[in-house]
Amino acid sequence: MTSPQPAAGPVRMRPVLSTVPAYTPGRPPEPVEGVTAYKISSNENPFPPLPSVLEAVARAATTVNRYPDMGVTELTAALAERLGVPTTHLATGTGSVAVLGHLIGVTCDAGDEVVYAWRSFEAYPIVVALAGATSVQVPLDADARHDLDAMAAAITDRTRLVLVCTPNNPTGPAVREDELRAFLAKVPSDVLVVIDEAYLEFTTEETVPDALALYREFPNVAVLRTFSKAYGLAGLRVGYAVAREEVATALRKAATPFGVSDLAQQAAVASLAAYDELEVRVKELVAERERVVAALRDQGWAIPDAQGNFVWFPLGDDAVPFAQACQARALTVRPFAGEGVRASVGETEANDRLIEIAGEWLVSREG
Ligand SMILES: *Cc1c(COP(=O)(O)O)cnc(C)c1O
Repeated sequence: MTSPQPAAGPVRMRPVLSTVPAYTPGRPPEPVEGVTAYKISSNENPFPPLPSVLEAVARAATTVNRYPDMGVTELTAALAERLGVPTTHLATGTGSVAVLGHLIGVTCDAGDEVVYAWRSFEAYPIVVALAGATSVQVPLDADARHDLDAMAAAITDRTRLVLVCTPNNPTGPAVREDELRAFLAKVPSDVLVVIDEAYLEFTTEETVPDALALYREFPNVAVLRTFSKAYGLAGLRVGYAVAREEVATALRKAATPFGVSDLAQQAAVASLAAYDELEVRVKELVAERERVVAALRDQGWAIPDAQGNFVWFPLGDDAVPFAQACQARALTVRPFAGEGVRASVGETEANDRLIEIAGEWLVSREG
């Protein structure tokens, strides 16, 4: 008996992969002699973990020969208590991007549509395409805000999920509660609306929606949150969704088995317990954001409303050159070619340097 001839040529993969952009991570800071380098390209929290969180991680590290609790019981209970929701309405994952992937996976078949604003979070087109669904991108308005009327108009029979990123990464504005409520009233009840609140803790405007209240009011609303930003646990990968039981149950079925490590679970539980301490840091970052935005606007920059831990420079074709000017001063920011640059609020020295470079940039352009 002869074995079958191996086919010549590369392994066959799904054609969609050729259309999926590879995720561009924030680059590590490049050293410049005599200057401290700062990475303000990934919206990370510049504060190191709290001692109590480090202790929890160290304790959890002693049992990494064991699988983590697959039910994520302790963290789920702590979240349920804090948010005032049933444990059956919660689903965790290895970062909220993973949970979003599961949300799309449980709602979309091939060719089904996911509507979201654009420019928004760069992970969206990737997770949508990998799930086999189709992205429908609705341009932001002139103030870099979601155009919720246009998003409602973009919903078709094929739409299974709508994403609302508030505050919007990378541009900064949050949607208003009244406009979001009016939008939800227009969305068919069998279409899931996912409100991505990765930056909720940094918001200061009174008009910012209470997404948990909207989830209670509208059964088709899911709220997506993360421990990566305000809680400072980006490296441990843990996020969650709050949604009605049918959706949350489906998410738990779709989750990677034992995905959320015990280190991540214990760190998240300890962080919830220490939120008062973390909140002091969040408030410091918000104060720094306000300082940076005010300084940049004084210089003449048209910075959109900034409700996250980052600011958006609408630079158009100058995005990449501006990022290079920052890099030359050991400041790594995130350019979106042809559109703009996102800079995270970081250490005070990094923020000062950003303001300085931005001021010099304008002077050099006027010159
Ligand atoms: C950072 C971010 C997240 C969080 O991602 P994780 O996977 O939880 O680290 C989610 N949504 C948006 C819009 C973000 O900017």
